[in-house]
Amino acid sequence: MSIRIPFNKPYMTGKELYYIANAHASRHLSGDGDFTRACNKWLQKLSGSPTVLLTHSCTAALEMSALLCDIKPGDEVIVPSFTFVTTVSSFVMRGAVPVFVEIRPDTLNMDEKQIEENITEKTKAIVPVHYAGVGCEMDTIMRIAKDHGLRVVEDNAQGVMSSYKGKPLGSFGDLAAVSFHETKNIISGEGGAIYINDTSLKEKAEIIREKGTNRARFFRGQVDKYTWEDLGSSYLPSEILAAFLYAQMEEADKITNTRLAIWDRYHQAFEDLEKKGKLRRPIVPKECQHNAHMYYLLLNSLEERTEFIAKMREKEIGCVFHYLPLHDSPAGKKFGRYAKELPVTKKVSDTLVRLPLWVGLEKDGNQDYVIENALKILG
Ligand SMILES: *Cc1c(COP(=O)(O)O)cnc(C)c1O
Repeated sequence: MSIRIPFNKPYMTGKELYYIANAHASRHLSGDGDFTRACNKWLQKLSGSPTVLLTHSCTAALEMSALLCDIKPGDEVIVPSFTFVTTVSSFVMRGAVPVFVEIRPDTLNMDEKQIEENITEKTKAIVPVHYAGVGCEMDTIMRIAKDHGLRVVEDNAQGVMSSYKGKPLGSFGDLAAVSFHETKNIISGEGGAIYINDTSLKEKAEIIREKGTNRARFFRGQVDKYTWEDLGSSYLPSEILAAFLYAQMEEADKITNTRLAIWDRYHQAFEDLEKKGKLRRPIVPKECQHNAHMYYLLLNSLEERTEFIAKMREKEIGCVFHYLPLHDSPAGKKFGRYAKELPVTKKVSDTLVRLPLWVGLEKDGNQDYVIENALKILG
């Protein structure tokens, strides 16, 4: 069944099939051909990261990160509870115990003030998530990591094109993971990349990504045969996927600017209702430049949110919520721990609602229709 305004509508630049045809004609269909290299280079330029490798998902990049951090059973990683499952499960796959910390009420990012009290002698890494493409308090997080000798892996799935104090997200930690899933800003259906900012991890990353073999060195002519060297899996995307992604990268500025305009329009539209105490709008600290990945509202109760989503649905407008707190999930309880209750996480999980935000929403009165109906329901 079609819906008038879906929650997400993947944007295509129009050049995707042309580049896929190029990949097809080149007869290089497996990973690490010209399109993959072009995408890696584009991301390197964007982030200033010395090495970027495309993966088939952000989850793959996070799994690689757990291997690169040498996570062993019983090691602890500090994570937010308010995040996507694989921020955490990628580390649990290596035997890590996730230690769940609270989020800040303003940005909904990991509360940097609650990190240190959760560090033990078993802590190996901190995994900040740049929620909605708004940067975490990276100066503080990096200082804590340095003081305690911990790795930092940025889950930057949502933050391509965003920055903190003028520096691109994903360029702070030892490692960072980004996503090109079709619900993100720049897409290839499924897709991702790992940024390797600690250059000492580069060779190991290449081995892990190529099934645990030294095939990358073999292709560069540095060894005359390739062999099994370490743990690893198959984390490369095909050239067909990279070809699609490259078309998107070429329009990344245009996509971001269009999304920012839509975001700003929502923000203005809900100002009055915020003043009346009906809702709270997103807060972006002045040191953060975001990428308009998401527009959400925080309503006053779970009941209000349930009703809002149902009423928008009647008007054929798709609105969604997330995340169920991971510390309270069956697997979170089984594998993780938390020192104290996480009331902000719980409240946000109950009251946050995401509005449609996609390139094309600004046209044909689509966004007007969403705003008009939302104001009517909430006003
Ligand atoms: C989308 C997302 C992921 C997973 O990305 P995939 O590319 O689908 O694996 C991980 N973390 C966060 C915060 C995300 O938003």
